Amino acid sequence: MKLTFWGAARQVTGSMYLLEMNGGYKILIDCGSDLSKNRSAAPFSFNPSEINLVLLTHAHLDHSGNIPNLFIQGYKGQVLCTPATLSLTELILKDCASIQSKAVKRKIKKEKHKIISSNISNVYFEKHVEEAADRFVTINFNKRFEVKKGLHVTFIPTGHLLGAANILLEIEENGEKKSIGFSGDIGRKNYPLLQDPQRLSEADYLICETTYGMRKHVSAEKPEDFLQKIVQKACVDIPGRLIIPAFSVGRTQSLLYTLHKLAIQKKLPPIKIFADSPMAIASTRIYEEFLPLLNAEANDLYSKHKSLFDFENLVQVNTFKESKAISDYNEPCIIIASSGMITGGRIKDHLKKNLPNPYCTILMVGYVAEGTPGYQLLRQKTIEIKGRNVPVMANIITTDIFSGHADQEGLLEFVKYQDGKKLKKIFLVHGEYESMEGFKKVLEENGYDHVEIPRKGEMFEL
Ligand SMILES: [Zn+2]
Repeated sequence: MKLTFWGAARQVTGSMYLLEMNGGYKILIDCGSDLSKNRSAAPFSFNPSEINLVLLTHAHLDHSGNIPNLFIQGYKGQVLCTPATLSLTELILKDCASIQSKAVKRKIKKEKHKIISSNISNVYFEKHVEEAADRFVTINFNKRFEVKKGLHVTFIPTGHLLGAANILLEIEENGEKKSIGFSGDIGRKNYPLLQDPQRLSEADYLICETTYGMRKHVSAEKPEDFLQKIVQKACVDIPGRLIIPAFSVGRTQSLLYTLHKLAIQKKLPPIKIFADSPMAIASTRIYEEFLPLLNAEANDLYSKHKSLFDFENLVQVNTFKESKAISDYNEPCIIIASSGMITGGRIKDHLKKNLPNPYCTILMVGYVAEGTPGYQLLRQKTIEIKGRNVPVMANIITTDIFSGHADQEGLLEFVKYQDGKKLKKIFLVHGEYESMEGFKKVLEENGYDHVEIPRKGEMFEL
């Protein structure tokens, strides 16, 4: 069989791998958006109508964002994923569709109706997301599912995000059995809300993400202790606003849950906490729908307090008008808004107004890709937001304590479940090239010799 790397090859985003069995049966593993500055106009270098099956590791846009386009361009099969991944993916893709349709309307208005269809290629709308969602079939974690004779799929929990999985494919062709392990994004242990990643059984081939292939999570501090210190400094000692740019799905829930724990322990000052994102509110409901997937501590907290996220002083901000009104609130407060990389969303308005304020603190909690305003914020004294150059006078703090990705140690642990002698090849994906090269050396030092760093479009015979 053949494996071709169509995305997240020598870069972090756009996960998309095509596995072709000997009889011609084609399986696409993940179908993500390329969020990097190199994004190309055409999302597919193959014919979507020839794909037989799609497997989805988890809901994040860089793994799921091109699924509606795949259907628009002729795919007629199903998408297999876990039930929680379906719920979160539908939410994320609808949000993406809504952003795209607003952008198209703005473009049509600006270009005075002279828009041509090529200007809006690769754009999908809510109806496309709904049509795609109808084609999803859900499979519970750790259930060995027979897709067809000689093809079994198992979704194995990997932490990282509600519903997120590593996928084990077992294929029997011409009397020969081969197994392939695809990591989605590998989560970390002791992460707020989520269960620890589970081990992937031994495989012949391993596809491994390397987002933090050369990083070590330095802090051994508990997330709640860290957050309590920051809140004390930003909102009581200075005192001012604490603004946290955070992705609405996953990261915001970790933050709200941690703040809830602090509130229960009476370790928070009496200040308002604004969760300024309708999508975050919808995601929190989905997290509460899937309690059995969460860790024991979260289940315990829920059974005592009847909510994971709702607590005194938390204000869930829905409408745009309510969001605007936060600007007039002059007391110390915490504002959590998306997006985490400041590429869009309500966070832009909050930062445009507050970055010149030396009494304000910005806490960066997630990965920021090069070229994004989030990346610039950590390095520049002025950044451009909504067409205006805004001076950065606020205090900028960055932490990886809420990162949903395993660091080098966690990635190595993921690989070490595999027997170096049985494993025929490890392919490194979903990372910056330097990170992949560095992690390749680490793997070699640990006795894993057959490590490849595929280029986009590179094909390997398995
Ligand atoms: Zn992810």
